[in-house]
Amino acid sequence: MALIVHKYGGTSMGSTERIKNVAKRVAKWHDAGHQIVVVPSAMSGETNRLLGLAKEISAQPDPRELDMLASTGEQASVALLAMALQAIGKQAVSYAGWQVAIKTDSAHTKARIRSIDDTKVRQDLDAGKVVIITGFQGVDEQGNITTLGRGGSDTSAVAVAAALQAAECLIYTDVDGVYTTDPRVVSDARRLKTVTFEEMLEMASLGSKVLQIRSVEFAGNYKMPTRVLSSLTDPLMPLEEEAISGTLISFEEDTKMEQATITGIAFNRDETKITVLGVPDRPGIAYQILGAVADANIEVDMIIQNQSVDGKTDFTFTVPRGEYTKAMDVLNEKVKTHVGAASITGDAKVSKVSVVGVGMRSHVGIASQMFRTLSEEGINIQMISTSEIKISVLIDEKYMELAVRALHKAFGLESA
Ligand code: ASP
Ligand code: MG
Repeated sequence: MALIVHKYGGTSMGSTERIKNVAKRVAKWHDAGHQIVVVPSAMSGETNRLLGLAKEISAQPDPRELDMLASTGEQASVALLAMALQAIGKQAVSYAGWQVAIKTDSAHTKARIRSIDDTKVRQDLDAGKVVIITGFQGVDEQGNITTLGRGGSDTSAVAVAAALQAAECLIYTDVDGVYTTDPRVVSDARRLKTVTFEEMLEMASLGSKVLQIRSVEFAGNYKMPTRVLSSLTDPLMPLEEEAISGTLISFEEDTKMEQATITGIAFNRDETKITVLGVPDRPGIAYQILGAVADANIEVDMIIQNQSVDGKTDFTFTVPRGEYTKAMDVLNEKVKTHVGAASITGDAKVSKVSVVGVGMRSHVGIASQMFRTLSEEGINIQMISTSEIKISVLIDEKYMELAVRALHKAFGLESA
């Protein structure tokens, strides 16, 4: 017998029919002797619908009230799931975040979990009940309802699993696992049986958006084995088969079954590149340029500073496409004259492609193989950045899919 947390996404909870299927699946696990806590999302489309209503009322709704509103989606789904379980003879009880309590800070619409009280949940589990807890929400010190940011139910589930020291957190979703790359770009992309949480962090932040990135950080910090698996399979499929399906996010590199050097090819289509030209090469300039961008809450990713010529240098960095105009405005208004830049240029149509894999730590020649592959396709590399387990290049967005396909093949990632 083990304590296991199940998380079901919006699609899995998308209709009363689907909620009944979730109940069947949960009952199957409970019948096998496990203690089960379920953390569901709102029914698909519900959070968007609620936030849409808010926008109809006000262009800038009060964040506290937004959380009050958005959290109702999950409250409806936990109650419906409890009823569905009771209807098939299971004892079940649902809780909103504040009832547990899941304590967060007060950063409305993007709150962070601080602590989770497991007392009530444990009592219910020991009494044989399935416990259902709202995803996405918590309560702050003052008793205000908070939410954890879009996709936050993943984080709720992993955090609840960590607080209860569960054996595993199963994230049921509408995909059947984590792939070597997006199967919409490479049709023979392969599902990974295991991925380390570090690789998953790199893949998630780079566009393989299967899980909210913060949930992966949580899984890493608390060493919570987390599995991503499909909720679209037959709910009554054999449990032993289901328990090893999907992709397991693991911690030990040596438990990795697949010994490939590279685990996946991640990409982000929506990048932009900005260059500040001809600034004096002296202390404080990088800080003045990038500090101003950071103060405007714009996330900077790749950064390079060129060799200086006659005491002048250039800075190039990337920002997400949605922030491009804002970043350009900040630079032109607040930075250009201040740092004495000659000019500021930009390219709003670039993409980032990365090869990711913990195997890189023990293998040489990955970068050169990557660069050779791109050169054979005639793709120009505009910027390069590396970490211990990732090499990223910035290229013209026109060639992004070509690059992903060529690299996927060059590193032998296709299905056998
Ligand atoms: N319902 C919330 C959202 O749509 C949280 C979640 O589904 O994870 O973002
Ligand atoms: Mg999600």
